[in-house]
Amino acid sequence: MVEIECRTEVELRRDLVRFSGMLHRLGFMPGTSGNLSVRLDDLRLLVTPTGVSKFLLRSADMVIVDLQERQLEGSRKVTSEVSMHLAVYHHRDDVTAVIHSHPPIATAFACVGRGLDEMLCQEAVMTLGVVPLATYATTGTEEVAASLVAFIPDHDAILMANHGAVSYGSTLLQAFQKMETVEHLAQIALVAHQLGAPRILKHEQVKQLRDAKTRYLQNAI
Ligand SMILES: [Zn+2]
Repeated sequence: MVEIECRTEVELRRDLVRFSGMLHRLGFMPGTSGNLSVRLDDLRLLVTPTGVSKFLLRSADMVIVDLQERQLEGSRKVTSEVSMHLAVYHHRDDVTAVIHSHPPIATAFACVGRGLDEMLCQEAVMTLGVVPLATYATTGTEEVAASLVAFIPDHDAILMANHGAVSYGSTLLQAFQKMETVEHLAQIALVAHQLGAPRILKHEQVKQLRDAKTRYLQNAI
């Protein structure tokens, strides 16, 4: 059983509008790019439609699909990238929200074949850890899900080669914060390398930070 956050469908539609607008303002979803989804229940997802600016999106534009990708409700057509979302939900029972976007600096890392795998700043260890790079896959095809599957169980955000990023969490807010963090870590990595000779955290320092993260999470419960 999936533990769904107690939000009504009306609230979830509003949440999708709100976070779509925020991602658009951040420059992560220019044009009509990017897509968001949330679980409505064990069998259904509420998803953004294809071909609509995230700045102009309305609650009524959302589409409902089942976990087999069949569209159940909505006058618009579901995003062409819905199979990416389904891959995450199929492999992570704890996830109730997925965001796919094209944050520019993180996407540039994905375009030069680099994941965010250097522990440069403490925040990297305390938040996402390594953000891996999935192999190239043509958008909208089954190749995308296949490229992500190996990383989904152990990571909460993944870069997609020559494409963008996907993040997910137990709420839409969590998925959003992870996407923000991906771009933030990419910015830091870019500038650190531009400045030259970045000092990567030592193994022992990473271990201490992981221990601190464990303590932090225990206190937060
Ligand atoms: Zn995309």
